[in-house]
Amino acid sequence: MSRVLAAVAWPYANGPRHIGHVSGFGVPSDVFSRYMRMAGHDVLMVSGTDEHGTPIQVQADAEGVTPRELVDRYNRVIVEDLHGLGLSYDLFTRTTTGNHYQVVQELFAGLYDNGYIIARTTLGAISPSTGRTLPDRYIEGTCPICGYDSARGDQCDNCGNQLDPEQLINPRSKINGETPQFVETEHFFLDLPAFADQLNAWLDTREDWRPNVLKFSRNLIDDLQPRAITRDLEWGVPIPLEAWKDRTDKRIYVWFDAVIGYLSASIEWARRTGDPEAWRQWWQDPQAQGYYFMGKDNIVFHSVIWPSILLGYSGPKPQALGALNLPTEVVSSEYLTMEGKKFSSSRRVVIYVRDFLERYDADALRYFIAVAGPESNDTDFTWSEFRRRNNDELVAGWGNLVNRSISMAAKNFGEIPAAGELTAEDTALLASVRAGFDTVGQLIGKHRQKAAITEAMRIVGEVNKYFSDQAPWKLKEDKARMGTVLHVALQAVQDCNTLLTPFLPHAAQRIHELLGGTGVHAPMPEIREVEDLENGTTYPVLMGDYTVGTRWEHVEIEAGTALQAPTPVFKKLDESIVEEELARLQS
Ligand SMILES: [Zn+2]
Repeated sequence: MSRVLAAVAWPYANGPRHIGHVSGFGVPSDVFSRYMRMAGHDVLMVSGTDEHGTPIQVQADAEGVTPRELVDRYNRVIVEDLHGLGLSYDLFTRTTTGNHYQVVQELFAGLYDNGYIIARTTLGAISPSTGRTLPDRYIEGTCPICGYDSARGDQCDNCGNQLDPEQLINPRSKINGETPQFVETEHFFLDLPAFADQLNAWLDTREDWRPNVLKFSRNLIDDLQPRAITRDLEWGVPIPLEAWKDRTDKRIYVWFDAVIGYLSASIEWARRTGDPEAWRQWWQDPQAQGYYFMGKDNIVFHSVIWPSILLGYSGPKPQALGALNLPTEVVSSEYLTMEGKKFSSSRRVVIYVRDFLERYDADALRYFIAVAGPESNDTDFTWSEFRRRNNDELVAGWGNLVNRSISMAAKNFGEIPAAGELTAEDTALLASVRAGFDTVGQLIGKHRQKAAITEAMRIVGEVNKYFSDQAPWKLKEDKARMGTVLHVALQAVQDCNTLLTPFLPHAAQRIHELLGGTGVHAPMPEIREVEDLENGTTYPVLMGDYTVGTRWEHVEIEAGTALQAPTPVFKKLDESIVEEELARLQS
């Protein structure tokens, strides 16, 4: 057994999340965490909503609400959506907590004390009409490198180069079109080049990462620059230095505060569960492992910047929290598109998690993401493929096997029948299914979930073939052999159900009960309303008791367990849903 930190990317709280978001970070991290717990590891899975930064401020201004009101709204929406998907966070919190502010300020102060934070005077843009700071990405102009006329102040989407807003030709505000003024402003920068050698040496030891992540990270280290970690903004974590802490116009940059969330959420979890020091077991024990899950646009923060922060806080001078572990692996997924197009809320190429869960089961989406999601290539979600996978694989493959084996046993025996002498076919099938605990488990452990669920479904196919070949419905005259075949089939169904539990936890719980099982098979997260540990406000979190539930192992079924005729576990989707959903997209 070992301790495993599952650090899951923080969804930004400026709106509801769509299925592209949860395919990148949510479902893969949950499959991994569920499997690791079932295999006996001590998992701590943490995340929360990312709630600071300019886009929140700008959107709140546009809606005439405070940033706090805006993030309160979307924090709750996102918590409910992730709950609906059954994502088993030990703690899903938010970045506006008193605890998070303390931890962020502690890391900032520690990095400063260790000499890795430098002050610099830079040019900042302000809006002449409001006097407020105009953030980089709200400035548009012509790219000085490629001439593209809609480059953003932080980056040109045409040539991909990073830009500073004052480099743009003919800069203009995207909010109201006016020309920004550039004024001198003082900011703090993280001295990233100071970590280049340590980062390279560390990446040399990361042999089992996905090759694209390693290569991308190495290229980033080649031209590291100091990176601003403060901003001219009122909404965010105050700067914890003497001359700065009371200033209301300067805040810690949102990306710097958000990556620290993995640590602050672990500390909040420990404080909430009665042992405030318990987080150290996942962050300081050299044997503990840390896996970080995200979409590929976030690799830089997890393979370069967050490790730099951890290294810089851990030495040379010891800081209050002590030295902190580097990530074991950065597990990045690629992009999901929808009907051949990039997800876009403004262009309505989108299906939000909430709308999806109103019309379809969570496990149908979890299945699609696992078997056809963007694990190592950009992939496309289409409604016809979603329907085909659901109907041909979940319903006709797995659901049908569950249904026909349990209903035939219920009808003919009213219970799990006892097995007589086993034939060579019987023992071969049982051995083949049991081998899945190794093969499927190893694949999940190596973040090859697509191969893992494909293997599990291949085993399901073998059991279906056994069932058809043995044809127990033709054995009415030989009740003993019929009982043996059904016993073998039900044993195989139970083992397959365990193999599929990390992917399909809701269905797995139902199938466990259809087989006469009681108690919790696949534990689920709960929404709890909690009080802030520092300031008395309340907010919803996801937490759960995941110490219960079925283990990753073969368990003998018990002859004589009462069975009832099952109702279908998965829903077949009518052909009409494809056109209905496509019409929604275009409306
Ligand atoms: Zn360009």
